[in-house]
Amino acid sequence: MPTQAYTELCHLKRDAAMLSSVGALLGWDQETYMPEGGTAARAEQKAVIAGLLHDRHTSPRVGELLAACESDKGVQADPEAAANVREMRRDYDRETKLPKDLVTELANVGARAQDAWKDARKRSDFKAFAPWLEKMMALTRRKAECYGAPKGGELYDALLDEYEPDARAAEIEAVFNPLRDRLSTLVADLLDNGKTPDLAPRRIHAPQAAQHAFGLKVVEQMGFDLSKGRLDITTHPFCEGLAPGDTRLTTRYDEHYFMAALYGTMHEAGHGLYEQGLPKQGGDGEPTAIFGTPLSEARSLGIHESQSRGWENFVGRGRAFWAWAKPVADGFFGAEFKKFDAEAVYRASNVVERSFIRVEADEATYNLHVMLRFGLERAMIAGDLAIKDLPGAWNERFERMMGVKVPDDARGCLQDVHWSFGLIGYFPTYTLGNLYAAQFFEAIRAETRDLDDRIARGDMGAVLKWTREHIHRHGRRFTSAELCEKATGKPLSPEPLMRHLEGKLRPVYGV
Ligand code: ZN
Repeated sequence: MPTQAYTELCHLKRDAAMLSSVGALLGWDQETYMPEGGTAARAEQKAVIAGLLHDRHTSPRVGELLAACESDKGVQADPEAAANVREMRRDYDRETKLPKDLVTELANVGARAQDAWKDARKRSDFKAFAPWLEKMMALTRRKAECYGAPKGGELYDALLDEYEPDARAAEIEAVFNPLRDRLSTLVADLLDNGKTPDLAPRRIHAPQAAQHAFGLKVVEQMGFDLSKGRLDITTHPFCEGLAPGDTRLTTRYDEHYFMAALYGTMHEAGHGLYEQGLPKQGGDGEPTAIFGTPLSEARSLGIHESQSRGWENFVGRGRAFWAWAKPVADGFFGAEFKKFDAEAVYRASNVVERSFIRVEADEATYNLHVMLRFGLERAMIAGDLAIKDLPGAWNERFERMMGVKVPDDARGCLQDVHWSFGLIGYFPTYTLGNLYAAQFFEAIRAETRDLDDRIARGDMGAVLKWTREHIHRHGRRFTSAELCEKATGKPLSPEPLMRHLEGKLRPVYGV
């Protein structure tokens, strides 16, 4: 039975999570409705909250309560409480390893480096950004040294651990390398020997209001509860699991490319369904007693991304989805769209391109973009790649992998925001998410044999039910590896993703 120490610990965590959700609201508002003039004050507001949170998470009282729970037989005999304490210990040990001055310096330099990046990217001027990247890389390496490389691992693993606990770069590399070759071969075969689908269905003119209404219809059909969430417009789409009962989705619209918004919205709604399914909230959205503790939180970024990519690619880019969605979209987009059949729209949603920009990449090339970044950031942290040599290394590797020359740094090493504010060790979780998604969907299909018939009728409940049961409700109770084994009966493997891509794209391209 949980003891007084455990109850007090959960209470402290819940209290800190409430404070954190205030900070999240400030962040969401900044990305959606805040006027530009509010930037400086908002940065200070967020810094004040971050400081308060650091104090709460690292308070000696938390340390005392953790020690009490660890030696308490009652807590240890309760599997949920024991898992919760294990994860809280993990968080506490990591947070207390970082000195407060490093935390604030990272936030401060990161905010300014991000500003410098925006400007440098606009002008495609790597030289202007290089000194900032140099600073951020040095600070991030210092952070990794504070954490310390895990036993038998490398310094980069200490950073990776923040986003995908217990993952190791060497193990990821062992999965990524053969996958890269197979993906490159598939892409070359499709593009050199296959027939590209007609792009016309995705180029129709679709007014923003019609796209927004269609997007809301789709997320409702997915099972996203709009009485406990919203969909708003932003420049860089994201999902914020802001608070219990309050999950915010964002998207952006291009009137001549509705699929960008549609798949962006489905992606964020996939993240949103995970947030709505976590046991941080009750049926009415009220915060639960475990809100703020690891049992109520998302497992990892890789698992989070499996939920978004699953809905986006395994449902949204499927033939069955368009059987349902095509007549619905006709009602919103009118005559210009009506003239295409569902099959043509399905094919247009599966076009593969050798493009330069990761966020616009298709399902087959996407992981190649991720692997490039993983290799480069790992080399930078290890000290094997100097900042000044980054553009050259990027361009050379990109051309070798994709067969096309990078025209400028804006479409090369300056395109992503992540490195500017110290998100290093983050990129590989995108591909891990794709691998998990493929494996989860094989399990969903094995359990629901008529999944496609159901989706074609607009019934997507089987997907939501499976993910709620096997992923969402567990929070951080199990590790990612355990979660995968429990849910699918097998350890994570690249085979389901390759089966999915080969099985879908070869027929579309006729090769
Ligand atoms: Zn995502």
